[in-house]
Amino acid sequence: MGEEVNESTRDGSRQLMDLILALAIVLLAVAILRKWAAGRRPATWSHPALHGKQLVYSEKTFRSKRHGIIAKIDRGYLAGDTIELLEYKTRDRHRVYRSDLIELSAQRVAVEDETGRCVDDAAYVLTERNRDGTRQLHTVTLLSREALLGIKQRHEALLSGRESPRLAASPALCLSCAYLSECGGASERV
Ligand code: SF4
Repeated sequence: MGEEVNESTRDGSRQLMDLILALAIVLLAVAILRKWAAGRRPATWSHPALHGKQLVYSEKTFRSKRHGIIAKIDRGYLAGDTIELLEYKTRDRHRVYRSDLIELSAQRVAVEDETGRCVDDAAYVLTERNRDGTRQLHTVTLLSREALLGIKQRHEALLSGRESPRLAASPALCLSCAYLSECGGASERV
């Protein structure tokens, strides 16, 4: 009887040890994964163009009350007296689109109007290619405040029906457009 109790106690201890070991392995795996993920975030990534600049904003939302613009910025670096914005994109190709410029330009209006700080005309788009995880930093020039507000007004006019949409300037744009079946595409309508 005494031996059975001892045997059962040993089994219980072994199970407990196995459980602790399994838990330790899981915790170690989580720690490794966290370290790997942190290394992939742009905050820990550097580039000569950003050297000497201080990261002052990270994934922060700003509002321009007077223009009704709310924008979340990925990164904001202090360079001298001005803020330089960086937008992070994961893509199939290392490419910058006009929509990136519009997005960054709206961010500039929101940051300037909320903080009173000056945001530089030059900004960055950091692309990361899905296939191999490589990164490229692209320097872009933001749209002026007037141009950005003009785009915003046109967008609002289209949504309200006060203005009609124009066909894409280049039929090639239609090839990847989600509305091609509804619209017919620029090449078929001119
Ligand atoms: S398919 Fe129509 S909506 Fe899409 S880009 Fe071409 S013209 Fe514009």
